[in-house]
Amino acid sequence: MSISEIAKGISPSPTLALNEKFAILREKGDPVIHLGGGEPKSKVPMEAIMSSVAHLNSGEIRYAPADGSREMKQAVIRYTEEFYSRKVEPENVMISGGAKQAIMVALQAILNQQEEVLFPAPYWVSYPEMPKLAGAIGIPVFAEDGSFHPRIQDIEQRVGSYTRAIIINSPNNPSGVVYSKEFISDVVGFCEKKKLYLIMDDIYHRLVFNGKKAANAFDYAKDKSENSKLIIINGVSKQYAMTGFRIGWAIANKKLIETMTNIQAHQTSGPSILLQKAAVGAMNGVQSSVENLCMTLENNRNVMIDHLNSFEGVKVTVPQGTFYCLADFSNYMKDSAKLSGFLIDKVQVLTMPGVEFGMEGHLRLSYCGSIKDITEGIERMKWALDLKSPNELYIGDRKLVRDWV
Ligand code: PLP
Repeated sequence: MSISEIAKGISPSPTLALNEKFAILREKGDPVIHLGGGEPKSKVPMEAIMSSVAHLNSGEIRYAPADGSREMKQAVIRYTEEFYSRKVEPENVMISGGAKQAIMVALQAILNQQEEVLFPAPYWVSYPEMPKLAGAIGIPVFAEDGSFHPRIQDIEQRVGSYTRAIIINSPNNPSGVVYSKEFISDVVGFCEKKKLYLIMDDIYHRLVFNGKKAANAFDYAKDKSENSKLIIINGVSKQYAMTGFRIGWAIANKKLIETMTNIQAHQTSGPSILLQKAAVGAMNGVQSSVENLCMTLENNRNVMIDHLNSFEGVKVTVPQGTFYCLADFSNYMKDSAKLSGFLIDKVQVLTMPGVEFGMEGHLRLSYCGSIKDITEGIERMKWALDLKSPNELYIGDRKLVRDWV
């Protein structure tokens, strides 16, 4: 079969493959535990359901404008005032089918062939692939000290004449690290000086623990004009547990939003009006669900860290936000894909190999599930890896006997 060079270069989604494996085991009735999840388990806010149902009942579900409905744009404008202390106009906003589409369309709007997009490692699995889809190149930047927090110098050193944009995701998937205000301020200043686009992927910005806040790039931007190259990405997926609704947005200068709208108009048109209604309901409704989710995740994080700390060979960087922890398991196995395969085969715990996020030797563990799954999942992993554990383990009424050393 003949397919395009671009398509040949795109890697399959590692998360999808593992999720399929999980579904097969679950269907067989195996007691498998998913610690690889990327979505909160809480219920969608009632206002979201009510406003989409009201629209559905009208029986008239039509196309939405390519850049999003006026109502949804107003909700984003209000949100931006509340959470970013920044007044934007409808022409600065485009609504997309999830934050993912908003990022992709932004990249298509700004990148030429062979140009480069930098992003700190560890990184979300889609960042290396998305620039490729636009004919460009994604380049991870590793912190010199091996930590999950880059320094501005690490980025400065990688910037060259082909660099067009930098993507920053804080709180970060997969590490849960919240980048410091100094770092965000430096990146904003650096991008302004070098005339680079700065894409802030803020999809987890309200899921931060210990009463802390993620830095707001607008606070450090000197250029407040329509020449600004700052692009803010956000959406309802994570904060409102509305991953299935596929609504996200971009905020940028008017010219760029116009260009992005042209692209989106020919790609998918505006996102479903029904789902925009739901997003408006969630964003304008009572916000207690976000606060409750954040409290639950913080508690889950604490439980996970306590359990991981009982592993002698595991090194943990305590996440300050999101619902992920990227733990270093290299003392047990250096190859994270092999380790992840071993854990699903031997003790039926699904984890995400760190190599997919640019951190070999690590596993990404999610704490968006139940406390029971977190505790039992980590106990099973410990049994499989820590050879000082007893030789047998019961999963329900199944007895497992360790036949490896
Ligand atoms: N950005 C990051 C860092 C993510 O982790 C995800 C989803 O996992 C997204 C964007 C995509 O969000 P959405 O569901 O709004 O497309």
